[in-house]
Amino acid sequence: MKPPGFSQLLLDWYASGHRDLPWRRTTDPYRIWVSEIMLQQTRAQAVIPYYERFLQRFPSLESLAEAAEPDVLAVWSGLGYYSRARNLRRAAQRMMAAGGFPREYAELRELPGIGEYTAAAIGSIAFGLPHAVLDGNVLRVVARVENDAADIGAAGTRERFRAVAQAWLDRKWPGPFNQALMELGATVCLPRNPLCLVCPVAAQCRARQEGTADQLPVKLRKTEPVRMDGVLLVVRSRGRVLLRQRAADSGRMAGFWDLPSPEHLPHARLGRRLGEIRHTITRHHYTLAVRRAAARGAGPGFAWFAPARLAAIPLSTTARKALTVAGIRC
Ligand code: SF4
Repeated sequence: MKPPGFSQLLLDWYASGHRDLPWRRTTDPYRIWVSEIMLQQTRAQAVIPYYERFLQRFPSLESLAEAAEPDVLAVWSGLGYYSRARNLRRAAQRMMAAGGFPREYAELRELPGIGEYTAAAIGSIAFGLPHAVLDGNVLRVVARVENDAADIGAAGTRERFRAVAQAWLDRKWPGPFNQALMELGATVCLPRNPLCLVCPVAAQCRARQEGTADQLPVKLRKTEPVRMDGVLLVVRSRGRVLLRQRAADSGRMAGFWDLPSPEHLPHARLGRRLGEIRHTITRHHYTLAVRRAAARGAGPGFAWFAPARLAAIPLSTTARKALTVAGIRC
């Protein structure tokens, strides 16, 4: 059930001022799509430079469809979750073959990399389609406004919360409503210490009335984090740095360039430790020491790169972080 006045309060609050993010200044479906894919696993502030660089390099659906995959991955380098970039390019090719950007939710859903959330976001913001979005921010707001302590990791709970968000949706202004709800979760209804005193829907929020906001939403942990240690080697020669290309069968990182580990260069002489980096992929938490090393040659799959060339190749996020620790700009 929609709390009375809910959507108007939310829309008024959003209209009175929100974060000025570059993808909020457009209704171009291509630009909104690129931003939504980037935002899937990355914070808004971190996305901004990548978004701007990507659109400079690929300003249109056509330019992305015609791009070679390594060029797309190179521009995406550092954002991680590279299947997103591969899917963007594949989807752009399909759209161009079909005559342009689809305007229907069901057609959007059929494209690679576009799930329910992304189809609802693009559909509502670019085309005014009446589909509610359900991301982590919206789940949190729904759990609190409804004072619902069900496990949001359970598929049944998500479906129920999706139905609640759909019932709340302002059908006249679905795009602004969805953005307002996500903005509320991102800036006011924070995971810890929600700012209830300045919340536009505080009077409608049952968790606020019951004093349970900081216990919601409930997410039961199903899998323990896995911690892993390793070493990355920075091998230099005549100003260049040695990189190793991931094999074609190495899954989503196929074709990416990485720093070698000692097992890749068993005859390398290890030098001093330069520092360490941390990297997380889903539940895997890596701690990687960065060390200088000396190695004469390296076998197939290795190549030397001048630092100036690093921006033009698909470089793994760990390599990028480790090279920064080593004082090499990339
Ligand atoms: Fe979230 Fe507090 Fe607003 Fe409720 S009143 S929606 S808990 S910020």
